[in-house]
Amino acid sequence: MIKEVQIQTGDRTEFLDITGKVQDVVRESKAREGICYLFVPHTTAAITINENADPSVHQDIVMELNKVIPFNDQYRHIEGNSAAHIKASIIGFSEMVFIESGTLLLGTWQGIYFCEFDGPRKRRLHVKVMASN
Ligand code: ZN
Repeated sequence: MIKEVQIQTGDRTEFLDITGKVQDVVRESKAREGICYLFVPHTTAAITINENADPSVHQDIVMELNKVIPFNDQYRHIEGNSAAHIKASIIGFSEMVFIESGTLLLGTWQGIYFCEFDGPRKRRLHVKVMASN
């Protein structure tokens, strides 16, 4: 079974720490050991893992992404959100995290981020927990 997590984003471009939401899904699954697979079924949102201790890290990532991929350029896509599509492809649509003792096996400073590039919107995240115990 695949669990669908609802995420409401609040800004045009935003990194939301969803580590707690994902850990809740792992807890509900009762898996002790295994793999947690995360997939974003959108074309202008993405998922990544990075530092969640200092929020300026993901603010810096957004700042540099906006520099490299400006909102306005000579894009052909008529919807006008090409920058969001490009950023989403660069960051990527899936992550995999190991589960050990019922907990996501993340590094001390790591958190899981849902990356909004064309918000605010109601978004979804697919979570598949594969228990090996
Ligand atoms: Zn588009």
